Amino acid sequence: MAGQMIDEKKIEEALAGTKNPSKRDIRRILKKARNKKGLSIKEAGALVNLKEPALIQELFNTAGWVKNEIYGERLVFFAPLYLSDYCVNDCAYCNFHARNKELKRKKLSLKEIEGQVKILINMGHKRVLVECGEDPLKNNIDYVVKAIKKIYSVKTDKGNIRRINVNIAATTKEDYSKLRKANVGTYQLFQETYHRPTYEKLHSGPKADYIRQINAPSRALEAGLDDIGLGVLFGLYDWRFEVLSVIAHAQYLDKTYKVGPHTISVPRLQPAPSVDLKSKYLVSDEDFLKLIAVLRIAVPYTGMIISTRETPEMRKKAFRIGISQASAASCPTTGGYGKSDSQPQFNIQDERQLGEVIKGVVEDGFLPSFCTACYRRGRTGEAFMGLSKPGEIHKFCRANGILTFAEYIEDFVHNGARRRYGDLINFYLDKIEDKELQRQTQERLRKIAKGKRDLYF
Ligand code: SAM
Ligand code: SF4
Repeated sequence: MAGQMIDEKKIEEALAGTKNPSKRDIRRILKKARNKKGLSIKEAGALVNLKEPALIQELFNTAGWVKNEIYGERLVFFAPLYLSDYCVNDCAYCNFHARNKELKRKKLSLKEIEGQVKILINMGHKRVLVECGEDPLKNNIDYVVKAIKKIYSVKTDKGNIRRINVNIAATTKEDYSKLRKANVGTYQLFQETYHRPTYEKLHSGPKADYIRQINAPSRALEAGLDDIGLGVLFGLYDWRFEVLSVIAHAQYLDKTYKVGPHTISVPRLQPAPSVDLKSKYLVSDEDFLKLIAVLRIAVPYTGMIISTRETPEMRKKAFRIGISQASAASCPTTGGYGKSDSQPQFNIQDERQLGEVIKGVVEDGFLPSFCTACYRRGRTGEAFMGLSKPGEIHKFCRANGILTFAEYIEDFVHNGARRRYGDLINFYLDKIEDKELQRQTQERLRKIAKGKRDLYF
């Protein structure tokens, strides 16, 4: 089954056969990208092989255009929440690896989870990404499900968490079905590397099973989870191969299940305590931006996620050319919000508070959003694809982005920035083309100003 989605030979050939793409070919591919229907593996191959700066700039312009057409100006924010760093695997890049005896392992109790969630809510977050190591005894699915219920139940005077996405190890259909019943949003799982020999070299423990990992998104969809997220840990193998592989994986899911990936994440390898992996495949900043742009136009309907593994400067550039979701004010440490003596899974490069991140994106003209409307309105799986593929999702995103940002301003912004942020809201309100939707958004904004919360389309 795995061979069906990733044909290594075909990918190698696509890379070798497009080594020196002509200007004409590139322009033809970029023109096709503006149809927003994606690209073939070979076309994506020509783009990853691009070297000429002027053409790379054209690639960025096209990617920025496609992003704007499909997702508009809004950027959705979330925070990771680490439940437990117990792990039976030995991944060569991760500080939670089983051999690490220095790490004082921690698994959060429900009470501790409540404490962490309160902190996140009081920072302004509405969306969390639950993460934990793989440990069938300590972190089994029943624990994760209980944790999810707890997270949804926590409320403070600043609100509650409205969407929980999950990034836990590959598991069985039965477990996925339990996750579905727990009402999770997207189930994310990174393939780490699609290159099988490299995958097998860098992992040991149950995760070393390449087939278990690569078929996990299929199992999750078959178990009824609507939205799944793919990802590659860039830096473990040749990024060009990884980009074509993740595109092939997305195309396979789309063809087989009529649902492509809801998101694609682009984590890049970071230093981590106790890790001394010397990789010859580290991805330069320039190539990293290029790969984001290629993924954006090759899988135009997918949300793209960047984390705080990247510096504020890199994130700023990435937002322009394809990223639609970002973590902010993250702590990749179990129980790390507030304070903690636990060690992180890896080092992060953007340590700013949420307020500072918001300030930066507003200055760049983006609309910060904490929207969780789609999955609560049933716009998931095929229904979501039906809206995101033709670029229709955009109109909901704008209105919902405006409403959730207005809530954020009411609850968390008490300085001079309120006026500037209000101007941004008015600017985008004006841009809502559907006059009825615009009127209803205005009406809801008035309700938010009077204290009403959680209004969405
Ligand atoms: N433990 C589960 C698993 O491995 O599938 C859940 C995800 S783990 C908590 C989150 C992700 O962190 C991993 O999939 C991996 O891609 C990433 N990660 C681990 N070590 C990293 C490092 N040194 N730099 C950047 N990302 C890293
Ligand atoms: Fe465990 Fe996940 Fe880290 Fe691997 S990446 S050691 S599975 S926590």
